[in-house]
Amino acid sequence: MANYEITVIPGDGIGPEVVDSALQVLGEAQKQFGFTLDYATYDFSAELYRRTGRKITAADMDEIGKSDAVLFGAMGLPDVRDEEGLELGAQVQMRAHYKLFASLRPVKLFEGVPNAVRAEKIDMLVIRETSEGMFAGLHDKHEPSDEEATDRMTITRATCETLFAEAFDQARARRKRGTPGRVTLLHKSNALRSNVLMEKVFDEVAAKNTDVESSKYYIDAGSMYMVTDPGRFDVIVSENIFGDITSEIAAGLVGGLGVAPSADVSRTHGVFQPSHGSAPDIAGTGKANPTAMILSAAMMLEWLGEKREDAVLVDAASSINAAVEKVLATGPRSADLGGSASTDEVTDAVLSALRSAA
Ligand code: ATP
Repeated sequence: MANYEITVIPGDGIGPEVVDSALQVLGEAQKQFGFTLDYATYDFSAELYRRTGRKITAADMDEIGKSDAVLFGAMGLPDVRDEEGLELGAQVQMRAHYKLFASLRPVKLFEGVPNAVRAEKIDMLVIRETSEGMFAGLHDKHEPSDEEATDRMTITRATCETLFAEAFDQARARRKRGTPGRVTLLHKSNALRSNVLMEKVFDEVAAKNTDVESSKYYIDAGSMYMVTDPGRFDVIVSENIFGDITSEIAAGLVGGLGVAPSADVSRTHGVFQPSHGSAPDIAGTGKANPTAMILSAAMMLEWLGEKREDAVLVDAASSINAAVEKVLATGPRSADLGGSASTDEVTDAVLSALRSAA
């Protein structure tokens, strides 16, 4: 029986609540499919920083990086800022430390979930570049003044090549389950030098992957098409901040952040967390929708299963996805989806859907 070491960082706000749901679902999957996840839980959070000044360090990340994957709730509270005045979150540090170059955000229209655009079908994967782009200057030693502050957008050929190779691989993998196999670059090469390079490298990588269709739009026009004609997108790839915004538009199209999972990956490391933040406005009320976190946990199993060629994990991930889809279709639904079910009620429903499919 395979054993995997999983780091768990519940974080702030609703993070611990939805992580608890995901762990219950993973517990049921372990029983059914016969694999073992050994957890090491870390208390890094904005709340811990507020109380003690303790932040995640490079040594912590070296230790955590020895595990097979990281399951991350959400970190950051609006009133907790670091020395530079930025909101505190370990995500950005982990992206830099493990060189997690891509954030994968699958977005799917689920039956029974009200969607904003009355589309027939939405099934896209937004891949956001996460190691450079508009956040490249985050670790610069600059000193903004009250009169002027600067951010930096930098894109390198090396990162683009890896990012686009991943995008074409993902399109190919998705095509096996019926998606068209198309990669679309959203960019702004008419105004940003970094995006001129990005577009050039995209064209080069597309020319080496002609079995997969490719297309490009300026980010502004592409954002409009995502709303007016989302069916034309399969895999979308974009720069860091454009990808951040694009993935939230995509999440909004299919029912909001409560159903949008995400993963930050490199070839060796993976951090799996919902697209949403710590949602302090609903923390402690039992209203958090655990779906995005549960789907992120399923992404973790699928990613690990494919990396370690362990089909059992991939099967477990499919079963969790199917159980979640069933609950979304039939209810109970949480408040963000128009229902009144609590986090626990949604979690229990996913657990019983998983049990009844066994
Ligand atoms: P961050 O910048 O950390 O990503 P954010 O500012 O985008 O955070 P979120 O914490 O994601 O904000 O919350 C945005 C809104 O969505 C809030 O009103 C929050 O209550 C709601 N929300 C987020 N996640 C969930 C969830 N899992 N269930 C229900 N509502 C949610």
